[in-house]
Amino acid sequence: MGNVTLEHVTKRYEDVTAVDDMNLEIRDGEFVCLVGPSGCGKSTTMEMVAGLTKPTEGQVYIGDRNVTNLPPKDRGIAMVFQNIALFPHMDVYDNISFGLRLRNYDKEEIDRRVDHASDIVQLEGMLDRMPDEMSGGQRQRVAIARAIVRQPDVFLMDEPLANLDAKLRVHMRTEIQRLHKQLETTVIYVTHDQAEAMTMSDRIAVIDSGELQQIDPPLVCYNEPANLFVAGFIGSPGMNFIDGDIVDDGFVADKYEVEFDPSRFGLSSGDDVTLGIRPEDVYPVQNAGRIANQSKEIRARTDVLEPMGNEIFVYLVVDEDAETDLDKPGSGGRLLMSVDPDSDVEEDQEMSVILDRERVHLFDTATGEAVQHGLVEASEFGSASAQAEGDD
Ligand code: ADP
Repeated sequence: MGNVTLEHVTKRYEDVTAVDDMNLEIRDGEFVCLVGPSGCGKSTTMEMVAGLTKPTEGQVYIGDRNVTNLPPKDRGIAMVFQNIALFPHMDVYDNISFGLRLRNYDKEEIDRRVDHASDIVQLEGMLDRMPDEMSGGQRQRVAIARAIVRQPDVFLMDEPLANLDAKLRVHMRTEIQRLHKQLETTVIYVTHDQAEAMTMSDRIAVIDSGELQQIDPPLVCYNEPANLFVAGFIGSPGMNFIDGDIVDDGFVADKYEVEFDPSRFGLSSGDDVTLGIRPEDVYPVQNAGRIANQSKEIRARTDVLEPMGNEIFVYLVVDEDAETDLDKPGSGGRLLMSVDPDSDVEEDQEMSVILDRERVHLFDTATGEAVQHGLVEASEFGSASAQAEGDD
C-alpha cells in the first residue's frame, strides 16, 4: 500500500529548522504536490520520506510500516530528480534496467518491465539510443521509466521538470498526469511552481518556513485559502490585499468601503483585518451588471495594461499618495484587475470599479488566519432562494 504518513516530523540543522512538526496523511494512489517558496522545506520533507535524511523528531510511515529507520532501498519508493542522472555510456535499455540488473532479475522479467515502462513514457523504438542522442524531455522520460520498472508503492519526484524549457514543461505535466492515471500509484511531487501544483495535484500541501500551511484540493486552496500566505502564494497574478478596519457596518480602508454585518462573521468594530480580492473579482462598474453583491464603487485611474490574449491585466491606482511596493501590485493604493479581452479600457483613464462581495476574503491582520470567504450573509442567501422559489 502506498499511503504515506508523517507524524510530528521535525528536521533541525544546527541553527535552521528545515521542517517543523509536519503532520501529513497522503492516501494510497493520491497525487500530492508539496509547494512553497525556495528554502521552505519541501525537499527536506521529501528526503525524509525517501530515507535520504533522518528526522530529528517524529515518525514516517509508508503503508502500515514505520520506515523512519529504514534505508531508501527498503521503503518501496522510486525517485525522479531535477538533475537527470543517466549513465552516459549506457543506452536507454541499460539505463532503464540498471536497477533490476543490479538486483539480479531474470532477463525475461527485465525485458517485460522495460517494454511496459518504455511504452508508458513513449520511448518505444529508442531503447538503443545513447543519452547524448536524446532531447532533455526524452532523457527525463528515461529517468521516469527507470523509476516505473521498480514498481514502487510511492513515486517521489523533486522538481523533475525544472530544467526543461517552458513548453516542454507544460507537455510533461500532462504526461506525468497520464502516467499517474495509468499506474494509480501514490505520487509526492515537489515544486516551487504553484501553477504546476494547481494543474497536477489531487491535493496541494502548501509549506512556508518548514510549516504546513494547508493541505487541500487545488480549488479549495484557491477559493478558501487558510491564511494570508496561501492566499498570496496560490494564484497568478496574486491576490490583492487591502489593510483596513472593521466598523459597525462593514470594512473600511482608505478609498474602500464594503458593507456587511460584521457580527455575522464573528467580527466586531475595531478589529484589524486584511481584505483579499483576486484580480478577476474586481470589475469596472459598467461590466458589473451580473454581479449580485457589489462593494461600494471605488474610484481609480488605470496605469499599465497587460493584454494576455484571453484577458487583460489592468493595474489600477486607487490612492495616488500611498507608498507602493512594486513587488505587490495589489497593495499600497494599487489594485490589480483582470478584464475580458474585448473590454473597453485604456491607459490613464479614470474609472469606477467594484469588488464582488461574494468573492471577498477577510484575514485577521495580526495572525494572518482567514476569517471569512465571501461576504454574503445568510439572510441574503435566504432571501435570494425564497425569491427563486416564489418565481417557480
Ligand atoms: P526547499 O526544497 O523548499 O527549497 P529545503 O528543504 O532544501 O527547501 O531546505 C529547507 C531549509 O533547510 C533551508 O533553509 C536550507 O538552507 C536548510 N537545509 C537544507 N539542507 C540542509 C543541510 N544539509 N544542512 C543545513 N541546512 C540545510
